[in-house]
Amino acid sequence: MTLLTFRFAPSPNGELHLGHAYSALLNQKLAKAAGGRLLLRIEDIDTTRCTPEFEAGIFRDLKWLGLGWEEPVRRQSEHFADYQAVLDRLTREELVYPAFMSRSEIRAFIADSERRGRDWPRDPDGVPLYPAVDKVLPTRERKRRIAENAPFAWRLDVDASMARVGAELSWVEFSDERLSATHTVEARPQDWGDVIVARRDIPTSYHLAVVVDDALQDVSRVVRGQDLYSATSVQRLLQAVLGLPQPSYFHHRLILGPDGRKLSKSAMDNGLAALRKAGASPDDVRRLIGF
Ligand code: GLU
Repeated sequence: MTLLTFRFAPSPNGELHLGHAYSALLNQKLAKAAGGRLLLRIEDIDTTRCTPEFEAGIFRDLKWLGLGWEEPVRRQSEHFADYQAVLDRLTREELVYPAFMSRSEIRAFIADSERRGRDWPRDPDGVPLYPAVDKVLPTRERKRRIAENAPFAWRLDVDASMARVGAELSWVEFSDERLSATHTVEARPQDWGDVIVARRDIPTSYHLAVVVDDALQDVSRVVRGQDLYSATSVQRLLQAVLGLPQPSYFHHRLILGPDGRKLSKSAMDNGLAALRKAGASPDDVRRLIGF
């Protein structure tokens, strides 16, 4: 029998807060109940915002909370070659293209189109979709711009990817926190447009690294916050085009601040380190988040 594998996958770009504590402890509880494995993965591909100090803080806070995990911990920044290989494959299969428009060019393009009376589509986070301009650039022009060192990002050609997969996409979502029942969710990657899958200098993006790692690490249960529910559509499409196994998902409720808003990594008052310094115990933290 294969063991169920859970993972907690924080990014060391800030301090952990009560929302992270909830996610980590829920993964721990579910892994234990299932007699499964719990992995910790450090998602540090953003080398400008992630720091060793924040990473050390994550280990400190999680140990203090009483979380245990399997060693070695996978640190994404140490595996760029894995992501590069997958990116090369997507490039060869013409499912990604270099997108050259800067943020201000995108803004101007969309403003111009909206002036002409067309409402520009937005993704589930409210960000305007990337205009399909670069998708039709001739290969020679792409090569010329890259050779001239023009900034670009690799974007997934969602229509081509959907056509390649050729089937309706869905994922299995657990319906409750005990993971006792599931339902099927239709994946709608088109809602996100041509998402970024890699940068010029970093051969991956969040979406690509997550699906590659979940597969490499045999993750079978992805338990994470509700804020990533819609992003699952993109990740499901990437799994399908890459032929990767599909985990089942549970997107848990978010812990909100006293103002009813989602906690952020810069709002230090709900940070675990700050709570600890103020004299809170791990049990106090558990109580605060309803464990
Ligand atoms: N690294 C992501 C975050 O900190 C979580 C990724 C995931 O759980 O899929 O928000």
